[in-house]
Amino acid sequence: MKDTIILYPALGNGHLMSMIELGKLIVTHHPSFSITILILIPPTNNNNNQHTLSHTQQYIASVTTTFPSINFHYIPTISLPSTHFPPHFLTLELSHQSNHHVHNILQSISKTTNIKAVILDFLTYSASQVTTTLEIPTYFYYTSGATVLSVFLHFPTVHQNATKPIKDLHMPLQIPGLPMNISTDDYPDEAKDPEIKVYHVLLDSAKTMRECDGIIVNTFDAIEEKAIKSLNEGLFVPDGISPQIFCIGPLITTPYGGDENRCLSWLDSQPSQSVVFLSFGSMGRFSKAQLNEISFGLEKSEQRFLWVVRSELELDELSLNELLPEGFLERTKEKGMIVRNWAPQGEILSHDSVGGFVTHCGWNSVLEAVCEGVPMLTWPLYAEQKLNKVILVEEMKVALELNDSKDGFVSGNKLEYRVKELMNSDKGKEIRKRIFEMKISAKKTKEENGSSIIALNKLTRLWNGNKDNI
Ligand code: UDP
Repeated sequence: MKDTIILYPALGNGHLMSMIELGKLIVTHHPSFSITILILIPPTNNNNNQHTLSHTQQYIASVTTTFPSINFHYIPTISLPSTHFPPHFLTLELSHQSNHHVHNILQSISKTTNIKAVILDFLTYSASQVTTTLEIPTYFYYTSGATVLSVFLHFPTVHQNATKPIKDLHMPLQIPGLPMNISTDDYPDEAKDPEIKVYHVLLDSAKTMRECDGIIVNTFDAIEEKAIKSLNEGLFVPDGISPQIFCIGPLITTPYGGDENRCLSWLDSQPSQSVVFLSFGSMGRFSKAQLNEISFGLEKSEQRFLWVVRSELELDELSLNELLPEGFLERTKEKGMIVRNWAPQGEILSHDSVGGFVTHCGWNSVLEAVCEGVPMLTWPLYAEQKLNKVILVEEMKVALELNDSKDGFVSGNKLEYRVKELMNSDKGKEIRKRIFEMKISAKKTKEENGSSIIALNKLTRLWNGNKDNI
């Protein structure tokens, strides 16, 4: 019987695509394993970005063709009440209610293959009830970095010791082993307020992760050395007994979704490192007022730009001319290109004409920028992105802070100032140099003796039952 690893990603492209890359990494270097990826199906009433979903489905189809030992298994649809669920909560809820299906699927797969491990996302953690019952080793794949993982694993301790809700603390916390203090204001909103249900579910997820067989993390030494060391030493748990950590990063997503707007050919005609790229992940959307300010700042900066525009208003109903300030498109047509909804970010960041990246600080975006050596301006929007911003600005020093206002609004003047600083100042040059060095280190991780491959080999030896040799 073939040895199989089951991957169970969360909804959301950042989680799903990264988990698929993990599957590809495993079968490429260890072809004796096959992979089954369990896919949750989002309810159609949840405001899903249909555009993104169809890209995802196309990508899954292409992986099935290129990697025949990777299978996708769709978990039967669960119907939820017609309320709108925030993205994280949707996965937590769906996966919780899917446990009986997951149980049946795993039992069925185990009739024809040896399931060596199940790898969960922190949002699909409730399936650990199933893996425990079936006595299958349980791992997690953390699609963000080591610093945020340390904060997350330390969350139960902060909760236990807090004299008031985290949202009311407004203070720097010293997470054991981390090189910088973490302000409670930068905690993800979902992990601040004990009055909301998701807070307690995340707490439960963190406790479950503390006790699993191992945690795979999408990071590498050159960007998060101190945080990785502290994780390896188990400093985040009071008794120091913690799961093994496997840093297999940087795993970046193969670009998907096509280039129907031809932004790559537009980039071909721009000078080297001259273009600022603005993109805000799969969910970043802005109000009309904020879009106006971005337009104003870009125009005043006189910098070339490529901007993926998504709005809180339904873009398909409003033309770009209606959405953006009057005359902006005409006035900037020589210098700028605007793309609606989605652009092939990976290919754009690797293009020689791109010299700066305004990012929402999603971890996949961060790693893509690092792997291509593109310096950043930080504009965190949701989830753990404020924590990623702290790492980028204070620890890695590969980004300038853009969004530092309490309400998250960025003025056009601020954008203009920072864009010029990133692209034209000595400070910008220093940052560019640092991230270029990280790009070189990132490449080395995938060489034969690179850290990512060594970590993967350790992991597969463990799955093969060779505990002495790790
Ligand atoms: N992405 C893309 N085109 C876009 C927006 C996003 O290809 O227009 C990709 C991006 O390259 C990254 C992923 O979608 O791989 C977004 O993941 P990230 O963790 O940065 O943010 P999230 O969407 O999870 O907030």
